[in-house]
Amino acid sequence: MMLGLLVGEPNKLERMDIWTSRSHQNCGEHAVNNELNLAPGKVLSNDQLSSIFKCSTTGGMRRSKKTKTLVIVSDHIKSLYDDRWLEDVLHYTGMGKVGPQSLTFMQNKTLNESNENGVGVHLFEVFTANQYVYVGRMLLAGEPYQEQQLDAKDNKRLVWMFPLRIVDGKQPNLSELVIQVLVEKKEKAARKLTDDELRKRVETAPAKAGSRKVVAIQPQRNEFVSELAKRRAKGNCQLCSKPAPFKKKDGFPCLESHHVIWISRGGDDTPENTVALCPNCHRKMHLLGHKADIVTLSLAALEPFVST
Ligand SMILES: [Zn+2]
Ligand SMILES: [Zn+2]
Repeated sequence: MMLGLLVGEPNKLERMDIWTSRSHQNCGEHAVNNELNLAPGKVLSNDQLSSIFKCSTTGGMRRSKKTKTLVIVSDHIKSLYDDRWLEDVLHYTGMGKVGPQSLTFMQNKTLNESNENGVGVHLFEVFTANQYVYVGRMLLAGEPYQEQQLDAKDNKRLVWMFPLRIVDGKQPNLSELVIQVLVEKKEKAARKLTDDELRKRVETAPAKAGSRKVVAIQPQRNEFVSELAKRRAKGNCQLCSKPAPFKKKDGFPCLESHHVIWISRGGDDTPENTVALCPNCHRKMHLLGHKADIVTLSLAALEPFVST
């Protein structure tokens, strides 16, 4: 899983000293930490994180007086909070699990003053249990503001949101797959909620959807092979045998080409591995992939292409 988490090699040129230059000046005794490089995208366990930063192993905001840092963790799997990226700015939820949050409370205060107090703010994101992905050193990108979120007792309350920007402006390359796995986990959790729990979450959900950059690996499929598979199907889905459910704007039947053995699993981009499916059956193959259906499609893919 760790291998699949990140795409590409972290750019060695971008490697940065986790301790800011200001921290060095203020904290000469930790010169040993000069040698400690933490590249964006580096994955640490909770223990490694705490031993590097000399901070607690718990909490979303972890202050370390020794290293003059504030580690903030945006945990996307178990967190109560609705942290979200809007392009390059992370809107990070402050500290305090129950009742209204206060801007002068503990690490909320530290973070609020972090552009002036010499404390280096370092962000980690969690997508998989005990894998802390280092994002980078962060700066406050604007005034903290309040919004409504649910607290740990499921009551509506006001939280403080901190807009944070990465100092060197670059997010680690997260693969689309990681986000997809996370979305599936969240959808599963949503299905388990009662109607009332669901309503409350909808009422406090931000109207503007978040967005973040991901790196997608897209196979470069051959459009001629795809076209041949569609013509060979003569307007009918090769799984359910029914005519395409509708015609596209250009008048052609809405069929989609599909690789019987997925390209990502080593399948070839050839007519003998390509079929044309209606959108329903296509989705069914990707979600279920029943063996019997794969056999049906393997045979269909071997049919010759006969011109009409
Ligand atoms: Zn079909
Ligand atoms: Zn497909």
